[in-house]
Amino acid sequence: DERMVTGELQAEDSTVELSLRPTTLNQYIGQQKVKENLRIFIQAAKMREEPLDHVLLYGPPGLGKTTLAAIIANEMGVQFRSTSGPAIERAGDLAAILSSLEPGDVLFIDEVHRLPRSVEEVLYPAMEDFFLDIVIGSGPSARSVRIDLPPFTLVGATTRSGLLSAPLRDRFGVLSRLEYYETKDLCAIVERTADIFETMITKDAANEVARRSRGTPRIANRLLKRIRDISQVKGEEAIRLETTDLALQMLQVDDVGLDHIDHKLLKGIIDGFQGGPVGLDTIAATIGEEAQTIEDVYEPYLLQIGFIQRTPRGRVVTPKAYQHFGLKGNDSE
Ligand code: ADP
Repeated sequence: DERMVTGELQAEDSTVELSLRPTTLNQYIGQQKVKENLRIFIQAAKMREEPLDHVLLYGPPGLGKTTLAAIIANEMGVQFRSTSGPAIERAGDLAAILSSLEPGDVLFIDEVHRLPRSVEEVLYPAMEDFFLDIVIGSGPSARSVRIDLPPFTLVGATTRSGLLSAPLRDRFGVLSRLEYYETKDLCAIVERTADIFETMITKDAANEVARRSRGTPRIANRLLKRIRDISQVKGEEAIRLETTDLALQMLQVDDVGLDHIDHKLLKGIIDGFQGGPVGLDTIAATIGEEAQTIEDVYEPYLLQIGFIQRTPRGRVVTPKAYQHFGLKGNDSE
């Protein structure tokens, strides 16, 4: 969603989606290190009665960056304003947003790496010294106008910090990397979501959903919704493990939580390139997926669970992945 929504979360979120979002740091499950740091920085900023330093949140999609940004605003007791990099096309768009902020507000920019360069340059002095330098008019009558801004906190989100230009990255005081969730944390998220849905789920079943959600709360919540449908149709009182397993099979989620695109990617490297090494663009073209999507969404989890490795000559499928498919490893290992 690329619309600016005043003081609200982005419009793509349905009411159900919104009710799933925790609103305080205490409700936000997992990510202990990130939370501990933020807690201290928030407390210190409040003691000094200053806005919080600018925060960059990075990590794969669905790990809770937007949720955390809204929590930061809530914990600071300020308004949350939300937009995204591609939605801000011109410097004037940014000026309009920034000059409408109240002192201390949190401005969340999703996909902050996709801000146009011309907008980025206007953002630097805004972040550093809270003013804008805008050029009005053109030709000989052009002049630059300085606009003072209320102090604010920029919370930027991106999948990889390396996607940001160095000057932009340097202007964030706090850089927090969100990690894939441990199964026990995801299990707590599944149980919390089930509670909000007023659905009962057995401990086994919740753990199974958690274990097969690629360490990602958004995926866990999405799978739980579909499993709940099937369980309800079966007339179960509480979602059972057998139903969960059946539903996940129907949804093409395998035993370790990989989906059909993970399979296409791994099998593509195994069958087409003897397990690699193969370059990202080559494998992307072979399986018909975007290189950027593979790199931001699929690869990080496969790296994490040790199914692929990155080498200077490209991606390699590991013996562990061969084993997962019941295949014999390639000779190089
Ligand atoms: P991102 O912005 O990183 O793509 P979101 O903030 O949109 O991720 O989170 C995706 C969903 O997962 C949200 O609906 C939210 O309810 C849930 N979620 C994310 N992190 C947590 C968490 N730590 N605890 C509970 N729910 C979470």
